[in-house]
Amino acid sequence: MLSVTCSDSQSFSYMKHYDAIVIGAGQAGTPLCRKLAESGLKTALIEKRWVGGTCVNDGCSPTKAMVASAKAAWSARHNETLGVHVGGITVDLDEILHRKSSIVQLMRGNSEKRIRDTAGLDLIYGTARFSGQKEITVSLKDGGTETLTADKFFLNTGLQPVIPDIEGIQSIPYLTSTTIMELSEIPEHLLILGSGYIALEFGQMFARFGSKVTLIEPAERILKKEDEDIAGEIVKILAQEDIEILTNTKAVRFSQSGHIIGVALQTGDIKSQRSCTHVLVAAGRKPQLKEFGLEIAGIETDAKGYIKVNAQLETSVEGIYALGDIKGGPAFTHVSYDDYRLIIQHVVEKKPISTADRLIPYCMFIDPQLGRVGMTEQEAREKGLDIKVAVLKNDSVARAIETGDERGMMKAIVDAQTGQILGAAVLAEQGGEIVTILQMAMMGGVTYDRILNGVFAHPTYAESLNNLFMTLEA
Ligand SMILES: Cc1cc2nc3c(=O)[nH]c(=O)nc-3n(C[C@H](O)[C@H](O)[C@H](O)COP(=O)(O)OP(=O)(O)OC[C@H]3O[C@@H](n4cnc5c(N)ncnc54)[C@H](O)[C@@H]3O)c2cc1C
Repeated sequence: MLSVTCSDSQSFSYMKHYDAIVIGAGQAGTPLCRKLAESGLKTALIEKRWVGGTCVNDGCSPTKAMVASAKAAWSARHNETLGVHVGGITVDLDEILHRKSSIVQLMRGNSEKRIRDTAGLDLIYGTARFSGQKEITVSLKDGGTETLTADKFFLNTGLQPVIPDIEGIQSIPYLTSTTIMELSEIPEHLLILGSGYIALEFGQMFARFGSKVTLIEPAERILKKEDEDIAGEIVKILAQEDIEILTNTKAVRFSQSGHIIGVALQTGDIKSQRSCTHVLVAAGRKPQLKEFGLEIAGIETDAKGYIKVNAQLETSVEGIYALGDIKGGPAFTHVSYDDYRLIIQHVVEKKPISTADRLIPYCMFIDPQLGRVGMTEQEAREKGLDIKVAVLKNDSVARAIETGDERGMMKAIVDAQTGQILGAAVLAEQGGEIVTILQMAMMGGVTYDRILNGVFAHPTYAESLNNLFMTLEA
């Protein structure tokens, strides 16, 4: 696999050639490199940090492990309503982080072992940069560089947090979604820039650990992509936990005095001053393409820096594909993993594939969870569709009443002519699981009236889908 090249100056350099090179061991890259190698392609995986990417190391898995601790703390405090009295609840951040880290180590270790055990696959730790159209130079983690060429490249380099350009921000020890999971103390007052799902999950988590939490959101309301009634219900739930949300508000300047961080805020024309002990920047994520040399390879990006791909995930350069968050669109683990599945069908199994019309659900792991799939009501109305909207508050759901958690609601958008379900939101205990039932109905073309009349076990949340759709018959 070694090839010798000779430049004009007659100096020789050695390049290793592969059939396929995968850059980034994210949720697509990790399974993809193994499948490519197993199909007989000599493959290399280049990773600058850890196998598993964001999801395993500083995204889904660690946050959901910590959310579980936060939920346990909340439940312990709320058990009194169920007649169970638990005294003296304390939260041990060290233990929580230790458990989180063990889960991360286990998942990362298992993935890395599977890669190392795969014949025909080289795992190379280092940062890749294009140095030619089908050539990369890797700055190796252990020092030195290596130049590699391949027939096919698969880019799965993910996103990184956006740090907004606010006066003074670089002079304070701000936290990101990664570093907040390494804290040695529970913040006294955590101020969060942003109110997307990462901000809300951490906000509720640390409020439950004992922090005062303030979220700063420049827009007039949080979660603008969600329907107003769903977002309003979430605001109500968070307010019950004393989480403060300042909408229409921007942070314009940071300063620090001792361990206190000062933040100058602007709400319309009104200026105010707040202080806090910790700042989490959760203002979005952006491609990590700086110094990746995409222009050298001729790979085109869009205005926001995401790699442009067609419906087969191929970039502007034939034989170079982009998978996962880096190609824009919904940035979720299940999307990245599905990109891997599609690429295998395309490249190895030679089947026709397309990313068009993929039904992509998501779950926001606040408590209660928000499970979402398909269209919102606002999207359907903007499109001028003829719809019926089913809404059921959880205080009418038997399961919710019995288990003592009546927060939240369920909602489904239905095509008024065909009865097909177009979208759903379930803000409830295990909302992510419940919405999957509706997703499967959408996948199978099951109309709402069949769910309305379906026999489901009593008393489950699933059974309340009867009642949700009954609201359309009234
Ligand atoms: C706090 C947080 C919570 C989240 N929770 C959820 C959730 O609950 N559910 C969900 O579906 N999604 C969640 N996500 C999003 C999810 O983590 C990502 O969508 C998912 O990991 C897919 O990412 P990816 O495969 O595109 O790339 P990533 O997993 O980000 O992997 C990219 C990899 O490429 C490597 N890399 C980058 N540049 C180079 C280079 N030049 N050379 C070599 N290697 C390079 C990086 O080190 C990284 O390992 C969360 C994200 C965050 C930050």
